[in-house]
Amino acid sequence: MADEKEQLRYDPAAIEQKWQERWAADPALYAAETASSSKPKYYVLEMLPYPSGQLHMGHVRNYAIGDALARQMWMRGYNVLHPMGWDAFGLPAENAALKNNTPPREWTLGNIAAMKRQMQRLGYAYNWATEVTTCLPDYYRWNQWFFLRMYEKGLAYRKKSKVNWCPECATVLANEQVIDGCCWRHEDTRVEQRDLVQWFFRITAYAQELLEGLDKLDGWPEKVRTMQRNWIGRSEGTEVDFGLEGGPEKIRVFTTRVDTIFGATSVQLAPEHPLVAAFCAADSALKHQIDGLLDEQRKAREAGDLGAIDKHGVPTGKFAVNPYNGELVPIWVANYILMDYGTGAIMSVPAHDERDFEFATKYAIEIRQVIKPVLGEEGGVLPFISEDGVLVNSGKYDRLSCAEAQKQLQETATREQFGEAKIIFRLKDWGVSRQRYWGTPIPMIHCERDGMVAVPDDQLPVILPEKIEITQQGGSPLGRVPEFVNTTCPKCSGPARRETDTMDTFVDSSWYFYRYTDAKNANVPFDPAIVKYWFPIDQYIGGVEHAILHLIYSRFWTKVMRDLGLVKNDEPAQRLFTQGMVIKDGAKMSKSKGNVISPDDMVSRYGADSARMYSLFAAPPDRDLDWQEDGVAGVSRFLGRVWRIVTKYAPVARTAGAQTVDAPAGLSLRLLRKLHQTIAKITLDFEGRWHFNTDVAAIMELVNEIQDADSQLASGEVAAPVVGELLRNLVLLLAPFAPFLAAELWEELGENGAILRAPWPKSDPGLAKEDEIEIPVQINGKLVAVVRVAAGADPKTIEAAALANEKVRERIAGKTLVKVIVVPGRAVNLVVK
Ligand SMILES: [Zn+2]
Ligand SMILES: [Zn+2]
Repeated sequence: MADEKEQLRYDPAAIEQKWQERWAADPALYAAETASSSKPKYYVLEMLPYPSGQLHMGHVRNYAIGDALARQMWMRGYNVLHPMGWDAFGLPAENAALKNNTPPREWTLGNIAAMKRQMQRLGYAYNWATEVTTCLPDYYRWNQWFFLRMYEKGLAYRKKSKVNWCPECATVLANEQVIDGCCWRHEDTRVEQRDLVQWFFRITAYAQELLEGLDKLDGWPEKVRTMQRNWIGRSEGTEVDFGLEGGPEKIRVFTTRVDTIFGATSVQLAPEHPLVAAFCAADSALKHQIDGLLDEQRKAREAGDLGAIDKHGVPTGKFAVNPYNGELVPIWVANYILMDYGTGAIMSVPAHDERDFEFATKYAIEIRQVIKPVLGEEGGVLPFISEDGVLVNSGKYDRLSCAEAQKQLQETATREQFGEAKIIFRLKDWGVSRQRYWGTPIPMIHCERDGMVAVPDDQLPVILPEKIEITQQGGSPLGRVPEFVNTTCPKCSGPARRETDTMDTFVDSSWYFYRYTDAKNANVPFDPAIVKYWFPIDQYIGGVEHAILHLIYSRFWTKVMRDLGLVKNDEPAQRLFTQGMVIKDGAKMSKSKGNVISPDDMVSRYGADSARMYSLFAAPPDRDLDWQEDGVAGVSRFLGRVWRIVTKYAPVARTAGAQTVDAPAGLSLRLLRKLHQTIAKITLDFEGRWHFNTDVAAIMELVNEIQDADSQLASGEVAAPVVGELLRNLVLLLAPFAPFLAAELWEELGENGAILRAPWPKSDPGLAKEDEIEIPVQINGKLVAVVRVAAGADPKTIEAAALANEKVRERIAGKTLVKVIVVPGRAVNLVVK
């Protein structure tokens, strides 16, 4: 008895080790074919991880989704590209170096090895031959190469600017890396503002195209597209020059409502507007007040919510001239006007703008209505914001609609050369300089004679020195490595200094997925012909937290590469899927909360198949998943049942081979019907609905029905070919979700080839169809028609079938249907008057 029990035990550890070894010994298994393949191509990609050293459950889930899809596409006969790599530059390596005195490179490569082992243990079908590691020179040299191409085209440039500075990271952050005023890596650290000379990528040159492209990305989640639209923030409006009374200077303002310009009762400048500096030079009292405004603005920026600033202003005593009517309006300086948005100056129209109204009320500035509602006799309530109105108090423009007035006022400004139509974007250029060590060196050289000189292509890569002492001192660590800094100028051969800033790590992730297609190319970043075959990515899968970071940068990068003639596609990915988070007890897993579930622990207790399958089963992929260990145990028990039933009847299935039964009936028919319905459902879900949780549930139902027929299977009442068809297809359906067990059972069923190359099962619609029964339909007690519906159809379906019947429709036409009584499986009674 003990032996028999032993035999009946599902042993995931043994099964999974066996298959992991076999797969590792077969490098061709997960390799894609070349572009000359006769199969259709399919590029499925999961976002590459940062090598922290440990996979977390969010990774396990993200990759389980992608892996299920990749495996199913392989089985459907596609040429699948399914790569993996490492986003390997970044600050944690430097922090670890400080803490443990381990060199960043060593620390990073050690983490990569550990995480790769975890991924292999979990059985993800990655082609490791195309692995990309962004911190290695064979990859980052191409970051440098792209930087130089962008520099040549004016898309990479240097300027002094106000930057976000994280004191914890001791580096600059991009706008996209500031979340609610704090560092994206240090949620509790307030970001400061500093003035530094920085390198930028001119992403704004593509603002309009990045915006328009979103309309075509209908395979992307609407929420991601909306976030990007808001981030790009396009406004259409007018720029107008107000004159300075008594001087030649002009004050250019941007407004989206030039139709309200006759209601402008002040002009307001940002505290950093150049004209303010000029006013202050002659007025120390004013300077003192302006310094106060600047201080308030800085604090609000650091608090991350400029919109919530307590609005303050200071009158300068100077006046501006409205170019349309020569009217003099006072010039104020206000703490909520920003120098880096629009022109750093606005016209204030309190009657028609909330913020201006609030400000004018506070400082008793005139409020003059110039738009009135079309239908209202009086003016309505101020401020009147709507553009659904007509102009008043606006000279020759009176009685025009807002839209028409905007057009005519713009034309006047253009004709008289004091303004023009203008589109502005909220999107700013991408600041890529980092004063850090562990990143791609920027390939530029400072020469005293020649100024800024680009490193020639044949001197790439500029290698990141490995011997470096990481300290907490400020400034770029590379600046303290004389062997790196001191070089010769490529132009004059005189002594020169290398740029010591490194690139933002989002540069690395902006194009890594192109490199996968041609990862070993030593001459170019990739062969354009190979990329042309594989792109765009058919399905990209990752977290929504990248919506305005990586997912905007990589779209920009693709457009730059297209304009360099390297790629043909406008967008990197056709479809994007953003999975939900994995949480525990209702909260995000974090060390501080002590609610972290380790994938290793789950795998050692229940097996990789159970951990993966649970992460697909416990919630729809786009929703958050609350991790329940009971659930993993439940999936493990289920896989044990699958293992037992397939193992038990595998000998029967093997004797039947590929025979099928011509006209199954009774229990055989019922089982085959369930099988083919399950195949149909899962196949449809893989087409894009991705209800993987319900797919796993459907497999469980199928297994229940097979188990319920255990005695009939044992007695031979269910014929061997039926048993064969059931078990073979069950195992095939399981393959995307529990690949180890599927491989093991496939072999158990006498199959020699890899299950990954076995064709995905096809549903037989004839078998999947439910039996039909006839149901009489009576109207006021009289039999009128008989309808055919599926056996077991629900009352709603039966009612719909009855009401759709031609004869029934004739009889009830023009009458009132008072009542419908459905007796499921028996009859439909209609009462009409
Ligand atoms: Zn930070
Ligand atoms: Zn020189």
